Amino acid sequence: MSHVVIIGCGVVGAAIAYELSQVKGLKITVVDRQPPAQASTGAALGVLMGVISQKIKGKAWQMRQTSIQRYETLIPELEAITNRKIPFNRQGILSLCLEEENIADWEKLREIRHSQGWQLEIWDKAKLQNICPQIDNEKITGAVYSPQDRQLDPTALTLALVEAAQHNGVTFKFGVAVLDAQTSPPFCSQLETTAGKISADWFVVAAGLGSTPLTAQFKQMIDIRPVLGQALQVHLGHSLGNPDFQPAITGNDVHIVPVGDGDYWLGATVEFPNDGNEIPPNQELLDSVRQQAIAFCPDLATAKIIRTWSGLRPRPEGRPAPVIGKLPGFDNVLLATGHYRNGVLLAPATAYAIREMIIPIDS
Ligand SMILES: Cc1cc2nc3c(=O)[nH]c(=O)nc-3n(C[C@H](O)[C@H](O)[C@H](O)COP(=O)(O)OP(=O)(O)OC[C@H]3O[C@@H](n4cnc5c(N)ncnc54)[C@H](O)[C@@H]3O)c2cc1C
Repeated sequence: MSHVVIIGCGVVGAAIAYELSQVKGLKITVVDRQPPAQASTGAALGVLMGVISQKIKGKAWQMRQTSIQRYETLIPELEAITNRKIPFNRQGILSLCLEEENIADWEKLREIRHSQGWQLEIWDKAKLQNICPQIDNEKITGAVYSPQDRQLDPTALTLALVEAAQHNGVTFKFGVAVLDAQTSPPFCSQLETTAGKISADWFVVAAGLGSTPLTAQFKQMIDIRPVLGQALQVHLGHSLGNPDFQPAITGNDVHIVPVGDGDYWLGATVEFPNDGNEIPPNQELLDSVRQQAIAFCPDLATAKIIRTWSGLRPRPEGRPAPVIGKLPGFDNVLLATGHYRNGVLLAPATAYAIREMIIPIDS
């Protein structure tokens, strides 16, 4: 029986564990120095911008399409196994169009999506005001509505993936850090951890920002750098607009995410490291996210801030996100990392890709 060790239990590692747990003849162990869903995943807003993304071809689109399709079956599947609800907003994503945006570009995207079998609707200002009266801003000229995109709770999803994988026989070791690797390229045979050595046939690095020091142990450093995101939860006490139509709303890179009970997540900032390679959270940027949300939905001005948080997105330096494939120089070390702003969206497609590398489809 092949033994696969997955390093990291954010949404990516957990999705891989669950996917592989459905393959017969694999022994799977997941190691994380923290409990599940603590790092980037614990801060994410779970907005799944697939159909509404500007990616139209190649791997970038294929992965988005695969993930959006898989989520429709994955969520009920996990809910059935775990007997727990995963907050999954099926009311789509509404992207607000501002004066400077070129509607012709959206029309082009709508045609492309249509030919790919997906829907996008372009709403003029009157239609937007009719359907979403909470949006009141003179610079907004209309909106693009993507009914097949989704939003979900990344922590609830990750915990459900862990539980479902456990149910299928996967072993999780939390509070165990991977320190070093024993290698004789092109193979790695063993990892050294804070809880002793672990031998395996395959190693999957799904360690987000921890992937950089880890791959350095393999003498093949993959450079993943942090980009800070701050977000906040506000309590309005009632729904914005029509309570029966509560899509995730996005505009000018700010998301307004309904999370139930008249609460909304607002976010997130995008903050790069300074010269000293540190990212001190900038309060003004967080305030401007809130102000932008209020500018779109003036009702939010009365909402009470009940929580603020931040997280570090793992962004690959000098190459596109994500980084999926063999670690250069190794045949049995796979990378599933550097998902930057779309790790929740791309987790199911990443899990498929890793499964195919371990068990080729035609084998
Ligand atoms: C504010 C914010 C909002 C976001 N919103 C969205 C969104 O709306 N949609 C979306 O798709 N994405 C979003 N993202 C991005 C998303 O959070 C990330 O792309 C995703 O969580 C990456 O998941 P991951 O599993 O690769 O990494 P992580 O969640 O960072 O997990 C990595 C894990 O590896 C473990 N680890 C690291 N090194 C070691 C080691 N040596 N030994 C053992 N364990 C180790 C860590 O403890 C951690 O648990 C957002 C991110 C932020 C910060």
